[in-house]
Amino acid sequence: MTSDFAGGRLTIDLGALKDNWRTLAAISPDSECAAVVKANAYGVGTAEATRALAAAGAKTFFVAHPAEARAAREAAPDAVIYVLNGLPPGACDLLASLRVRPVLGSREEIEEWAAFVRASGADEAAAIHLDTGMVRLGLDPDEARAMLPGGLGFRPALLVSHLSCADEPERPETEAQRALFADLRSLLPDTPASLSNSAGTLLAKTSGGDLGFDLRRPGVSLYGSMPIEGRASPLKPVVGLQARVTQVRDADQGAVVGYGGAERLTRPSRLAILSLGYADGILRAGGSEDGQPGAVAYAGDVSCPFVGRISMDLIAVDVTDAPSVKRGDWLEVLGANVGVDDLARACGTIGYEVLTSLGRRFERAFVD
Ligand SMILES: *Cc1c(COP(=O)(O)O)cnc(C)c1O
Repeated sequence: MTSDFAGGRLTIDLGALKDNWRTLAAISPDSECAAVVKANAYGVGTAEATRALAAAGAKTFFVAHPAEARAAREAAPDAVIYVLNGLPPGACDLLASLRVRPVLGSREEIEEWAAFVRASGADEAAAIHLDTGMVRLGLDPDEARAMLPGGLGFRPALLVSHLSCADEPERPETEAQRALFADLRSLLPDTPASLSNSAGTLLAKTSGGDLGFDLRRPGVSLYGSMPIEGRASPLKPVVGLQARVTQVRDADQGAVVGYGGAERLTRPSRLAILSLGYADGILRAGGSEDGQPGAVAYAGDVSCPFVGRISMDLIAVDVTDAPSVKRGDWLEVLGANVGVDDLARACGTIGYEVLTSLGRRFERAFVD
């Protein structure tokens, strides 16, 4: 079945990825829809995801690090690529040679880029990050008002800001950030502006106005995770994960399972031991203990709850209700029955962390 008998196999549905990009693009047709492919394209694979998204029509990509920009550039030779984490000291030559643009987030970064542009004589474009309330990267409003109108010494290609609370639609911060960003971008009215991540893209507007501006930057939603809890998701699942059954065993009522004996069986049980664990990004917090259920796997349409703590390389699941499960079978950990956000909830985290933790030991298949 598999050449090196991996304990898990990931299936990445590039068709669903493209459909999700089209769905997001259509929400605000007057605003360009970029694609965020940082962190190995949220775990699914930079090269494959970037190629698929470019084929779907994405023309602008965002990564976090220069090395990610290199991978994205190889996959999309003609795309516009921005590096969100800004300019590491001394990185101008590398970024220019890759034809990628830093998102400059401080006066120091802007001065280093301006000096490079002056010395090289090239027309190297860059984005400017404006902090409208995230308090992470970006010029604060006073710095922006002092610096932007006088000219920066190079061509600002894009004004960027980032929403901190858009995944909670009732929060007032999103409208406050939108209004401040609209005000600051009027300092450079001819420069395109970009505010929305996935949640902003899905919200589309606040009471005060549109969140789309000229360019949107969805990430996690492309990969099938719905960042706004409690809303129906228009997105298709992109990631499937199946785990190999290493052995099946019977265990008595009262037996305690796994490290720490954290869970005592309340009935005679049949357990399947899956060949994956927290070393594969199945976060340990998704284990089960007495009175506190954890994540679930599926055998066909039968739910098989995790039993006991998650080990580094193994997980026990209860297959008492799926008696045909046998050694060598594959159970669903992510798929039709368990979405990325379901597994995240069971692990006390968010879809982002599940996706970006997906293991390096899995066999990967890309389907389209
Ligand atoms: C990661 C990131 C995004 C994408 O955010 P999602 O919530 O994954 O859509 C957009 N903009 C910036 C600045 C980011 O860091």
